[in-house]
Amino acid sequence: METKVLTKDFGLDHLYRIGVYLEQGGYRAVKKALTEWKPEQVIDEVKKASLRGRGGAGFPAGLKWSFVPQKTDKPKYLCVNADEGEPGTFKDRSIMAHDPHLLIEGIIIAAYAVGIHTAYIYIRGEYELIARRLEGAIGEAYAKGYLGKNILGIGFDLELYVHRGAGAYICGEETGLLESLEGKRGNPRLKPPFPASVGLFQSPTVINNVETLANVPFIILNGAGWFLERGSPKDGGTRIFGVSGAVNKPGIYELPVGTSLREIIFTHAGGLKPGRALKAVIPGGMSCPIFKADEVDVKMDCDCVAAAGSMLGSGAVIVIDDRTPILDVLSKVAKFYAHESCGQCTPCRLGTSWIHKIVKRMAAGKGRADDVETLVRLSTNIKGRTLCPLGDAAALPVLAIARKFKAELENTMKGNA
Ligand code: SF4
Repeated sequence: METKVLTKDFGLDHLYRIGVYLEQGGYRAVKKALTEWKPEQVIDEVKKASLRGRGGAGFPAGLKWSFVPQKTDKPKYLCVNADEGEPGTFKDRSIMAHDPHLLIEGIIIAAYAVGIHTAYIYIRGEYELIARRLEGAIGEAYAKGYLGKNILGIGFDLELYVHRGAGAYICGEETGLLESLEGKRGNPRLKPPFPASVGLFQSPTVINNVETLANVPFIILNGAGWFLERGSPKDGGTRIFGVSGAVNKPGIYELPVGTSLREIIFTHAGGLKPGRALKAVIPGGMSCPIFKADEVDVKMDCDCVAAAGSMLGSGAVIVIDDRTPILDVLSKVAKFYAHESCGQCTPCRLGTSWIHKIVKRMAAGKGRADDVETLVRLSTNIKGRTLCPLGDAAALPVLAIARKFKAELENTMKGNA
């Protein structure tokens, strides 16, 4: 059984319309937070709930909010990262398509907690239908007085806009997103300063993922203790795992944080097709180091997956069976990151294209005896030496595949020769 919290109403007819959402108890959390709680109480409750970011880095959301100065002369901004470009990831679009008011409710509460009066949803350009649905839902929320001036008569104002990106993976990196939102090329910024102090238009800015914010109304309604019970002590709540690849039932599954990777694959996603065996799993989207078949007894929370040598990332589980050559997986990884590197820093710009050239040559049957070692050396030189996390995202999966599947890669090259 799934533990449905965020997805409990998915499937209801016209849930995206505010009337249906209100019938399910929608906007009660906004009323409670704005009329009964002080902003700092909201931040404290979210901190106590150990809500970790669902976008990739897993940073505690309440802590992130508390970094933004309460008193400042500058306007403050909330940017919702709905860029969802990590290969294998398809959970945020489900939330926004099925239940856009849940996200809007989370945005209002977060903005109230941090003292923000302008928020943007930065959504990837390909999600055109979802962007239109969000705009419709935002219009309904304005009409009912949940957005705009003097919300619920408490003197709090919030304007919310949808901004469509133009389709670059790097705009999912928080500072690339800010540059893009400002109308510039989405090149990531050097940090520090961090967005909490110098963000959008040089002002203090909170950037949160869609699923992260969609959890907030439930924390307000049910309390931090309730939320923690549904997850791990340092990583509360549920996660929407998106399972794809060689399973019988690909799709999204909402499960407690800390559910084992084996259970996700073999119980919820229906296991592998008859006659096929598990070869490898990417646990959190393509930027996360791969696990071999004997490494899937890991609890899917941020800390446990990190201790096992990978990352929980966006919770996108990509399952690979024994009929898939690992060189095919490596080719996809190498091509993607060479294409998506923004080119600002040398190790990433040159390293990703060299990796791609080598892997292409290997796939064309012209591999050399020392290619796998060269891939390891190149990836090691990219890792930790770039301006933004894309460098690591490109290097770590290559490093893991080259080390864990060295024998298969070398055998493939011998067979191709
Ligand atoms: Fe651009 Fe890559 Fe450098 Fe990130 S690591 S700033 S994507 S070149």
